Amino acid sequence: MVVLSHCKGHAFTGLGGAIKNLGMGCVDRGTKKRCHAAANMVVDLEKCRGCSACVKQCPVNAIEVKGKKAVIDYERCWGCAKCFKVCMQGAMSPKEIMPDAALASCAQPVLECFGKKDLLFVNVLMNISKMCDCHGDAMLGELPDIGIIASDNILAIDSASVDLINRQFGGDFFDRIGYRDPKQQIDWLEKQGCGKRDYKLVEI
Ligand code: SF4
Ligand code: SF4
Repeated sequence: MVVLSHCKGHAFTGLGGAIKNLGMGCVDRGTKKRCHAAANMVVDLEKCRGCSACVKQCPVNAIEVKGKKAVIDYERCWGCAKCFKVCMQGAMSPKEIMPDAALASCAQPVLECFGKKDLLFVNVLMNISKMCDCHGDAMLGELPDIGIIASDNILAIDSASVDLINRQFGGDFFDRIGYRDPKQQIDWLEKQGCGKRDYKLVEI
């Protein structure tokens, strides 16, 4: 399997790289739904002003304003968090906090289905955005492009991606954008015996 990942910030995992791509991309529909359900939003009715900004942003028309308050239809909501991003009143917040290594734990059984020699990871460090690609700002790069890296080691490639992004930023990019520490998912997979994060960059 060739795992091609666009690297960017990600609310659940810090880095949206190879681990996130496997953990969300290679699991069944029910697991994907369960993971995204953690990003279902709840509306703070005290703070909501009924401005409808979230209604316009919702890609699945899951929000209505009734009696000047936003109401979410959870049958439709797919947990993209666009409403959270757009609400200037801070009225939206996630229903639950996803555990730090949740997507790494989804990636682990996928890794175990393949032998080490059967996997190639390619991380694209270009157009590096703060948010996941589904937010539609993937082309609004926050940093100058770095390049494309490849490895047969998922821990090494995500670890190198984090280091290269931080080096390009000149500090801790992930801390700055206020997401999780992207190394926690690497730590978790290392503890499970899924490999080592050590890497040596060879420029081509
Ligand atoms: S954007 Fe915020 S304030 Fe406006 S309707 Fe939605 S939840 Fe309410
Ligand atoms: S999380 Fe996404 S899908 Fe759900 S209500 Fe907000 S904008 Fe709509």
